[in-house]
Amino acid sequence: MSATENAPAEALPHSAVLAEAIVDTLVHRIGKDERAAKPHDWLSATILTVRDQVIDRWMASTRSAHRQGAKRVYYLSLEFLIGRLLRDTLTNLGINGEVSQALATLGVDLAAIEEIEPDAALGNGGLGRLAACFMESLATLDLPAYGYGIRYVNGMFRQRIRDGWQQEYPEDWLAFGNPWEFERRESRYHVRFGGEVVAGPDGRAIWEQAERVIAMAVDTPMVGYRGKRVNTLRLWEARAVDPLRLDAFNRGDHVGALAQQTRAETLTRVLYPADETPAGQELRLRQEYFFSSASLQDIVRRHVQYFGDIRTLPEKAAVQLNDTHPAVAVAELMRLLLDERGLEFNEAWSITKRTFSYTNHTLLPEALESWPLPLFERLLPRHMQLVYMINAQLMREARAAQLEDAAIAAVSLIDERGERRVRMANLAFAGSHSINGVAALHTELMKKTVFADLHRLYPDRINNKTNGITPRRWLIEANPGLTALIRETIGDGFLDHAEALAALADHAGDAGFQERFAAVKRANKVALSDYIREHMGLPLDPDALFDVQVKRIHEYKRQLLNIIETVALYDQIRSHPERDWVPRVKLFAGKAAPSYHNAKLIIKLANDVARRINADPAVAGLLKIVFVPNYNVSLAEKIMPAADLSEQISTAGMEASGTGNMKLALNGALTIGTLDGANVEIRDRVGEENILIFGLTAEEVARTKAEGYAPRAWIERSPELSQALTAIASGVFSPDDRQRYAALIGGIYDYDPFMVAADFDAYVAAQREVDTLWREPARWREKAIRNTANVGWFSSDRTIADYAREIWKLTE
Ligand SMILES: *Cc1c(COP(=O)(O)O)cnc(C)c1O
Repeated sequence: MSATENAPAEALPHSAVLAEAIVDTLVHRIGKDERAAKPHDWLSATILTVRDQVIDRWMASTRSAHRQGAKRVYYLSLEFLIGRLLRDTLTNLGINGEVSQALATLGVDLAAIEEIEPDAALGNGGLGRLAACFMESLATLDLPAYGYGIRYVNGMFRQRIRDGWQQEYPEDWLAFGNPWEFERRESRYHVRFGGEVVAGPDGRAIWEQAERVIAMAVDTPMVGYRGKRVNTLRLWEARAVDPLRLDAFNRGDHVGALAQQTRAETLTRVLYPADETPAGQELRLRQEYFFSSASLQDIVRRHVQYFGDIRTLPEKAAVQLNDTHPAVAVAELMRLLLDERGLEFNEAWSITKRTFSYTNHTLLPEALESWPLPLFERLLPRHMQLVYMINAQLMREARAAQLEDAAIAAVSLIDERGERRVRMANLAFAGSHSINGVAALHTELMKKTVFADLHRLYPDRINNKTNGITPRRWLIEANPGLTALIRETIGDGFLDHAEALAALADHAGDAGFQERFAAVKRANKVALSDYIREHMGLPLDPDALFDVQVKRIHEYKRQLLNIIETVALYDQIRSHPERDWVPRVKLFAGKAAPSYHNAKLIIKLANDVARRINADPAVAGLLKIVFVPNYNVSLAEKIMPAADLSEQISTAGMEASGTGNMKLALNGALTIGTLDGANVEIRDRVGEENILIFGLTAEEVARTKAEGYAPRAWIERSPELSQALTAIASGVFSPDDRQRYAALIGGIYDYDPFMVAADFDAYVAAQREVDTLWREPARWREKAIRNTANVGWFSSDRTIADYAREIWKLTE
């Protein structure tokens, strides 16, 4: 300080000005002095100070969109898995160094306070993280966009592992407040539920609701790279219309007086902890309608305010539905156009279809959302009528196109088989001009399976937009060591154009560069090992091969295949200790939906296997298993840069895209995987010699099933698999409960819907090929470098540019 103390203000280095601003914020906005400030106070003061720098750009972004009469993108998603924002915002504003210096002069370590920022865990997994990467890329590409979702007070549950079992705890990410957000008390809408529909004097429908809730906007700025643009993530909070019933209160009914507020707050309390399984819960449908209605009311209000005429909505607004969770928005826009703006059906329907587009994320039949018709009708009586009107139009078009009866039944918005249900995917499809899949294979399968008949009826609607990830978070921020090495080697171009990473390929065979690349990877592995030792008390060898499978726990993702192979490997090492085994760390992380019995059992199995293997001196130094609790964005940022091997081993045809696969390849991990989702395109880009592909293809999976798959026969042909299954089923890893895994393993013998048995031997062979490669470090490193070099195309900037050009028509 002393050198600058007497200098005139304009000569102060920026970091000194910043330090003053942070202290000023601490004192005047947090109400603490420097000596009393706790780490959380410094975090809040830093965020508020940085936020001030964001606000001017934010307003400038809004003003310029307004001035230019620009078309806006509205991304509707029930999930935004944004994680922490401080490091991301500092990186995108380019003020990391200054802020770090400023804090250092105050005796505060930026890295330490970054580490205590809570994760905004407003999502389950890939779908929610995609929405977060998209928000960042939209701002980076200078496209005017709003994200719309729900501000869950407790987002995704926090996972603890107790005695090997998953336990769920509420995530209290708002415990210290959230300095990033702005409450917009003036942006409030009524959202209605229940009641009945009556005819008004002019013939218009009047919805006499039974219940009203207020949706209040809470905005978070989303900063693009190089601070070009700041967009808005608008999350809705539910409030009671009449929070305190004073009459009841004065009667002494203190709890009853607050009942409305409690009921409203319940709406935005938790994210349904379901992933790819329907949450068949009324509350979930209420959440979907709540945020869809508030968002559509906001969009229509903004459009009419700026442009006057509701009929021009499709020219000025592109509304993207992230999966079917906001599909009820199709009926809601129809309601607004018909009942509130007085348009005729045909015109309203045309506006609706030109405004919406829909992204499909899964083909799993059990994950296709549908609602029991009586529930839908009771909660949303007017929307039920509108669904019937839309369906009548759809049926007319299907008959005009001469679809046969079975196809007509398949395209209908109402599933008439058994209990009648409203099909949200069909509603989203019917109400959109574009329906996209998230990887090439997935899009082709959409055309052939779930949407085969809708595709025949509307053949121009389905298109592909392969997912992407933002290289700011997943390379520049998560892996500063690799970023620095790449800058020194090929210059800075890749920072703005990820595909410029391709220039790294020229250095892939260079021994000196390989050494430096490997040194960065090793440092990242040391950092992860330190973290795991600190948090779990488990020491890892950073020179071992780090083999990682991190993602939601689901049978189709086949963590079980990996665990069974681990058991087989364990058996092999013990039987042949004289062989030259490659030391491995098998790292697992991921949450299971609380109601998903088998997924939770698979977590327990991973932990049981870990306990036995990690304690066995016969494999010490050769095999370690670790299940890291509470997988979230921040943990992913630590794991991805430290991985050598990326496990992407889903049953072919079941993973729509995957994005974990992209993050890991970008950070120089080799993929071992099936030809599923985006793995296919990763192989095409990195070259088949730089990826380990094994197992049945999607076509072979379908054919094998059609021909009558008999897993028992496959198991009998594989001694290694038989032995591993027998060991697990007989309780070798669960001496305290020998029956624990009998049913889980029995399921593989009898049904094996995820084809673990059919792919097992091919998977083992690929793993032994991994060992062979690992023993030749030069070959391994060359392949790792070629992975980083060739996956720039999976930047979400490319994905968003494709959406902008081909779906939203924002650019040429
Ligand atoms: C990327 C990511 C995912 C998606 O992983 P997949 O392997 O594609 O399923 C899930 N959760 C978090 C926290 C992520 O960062």
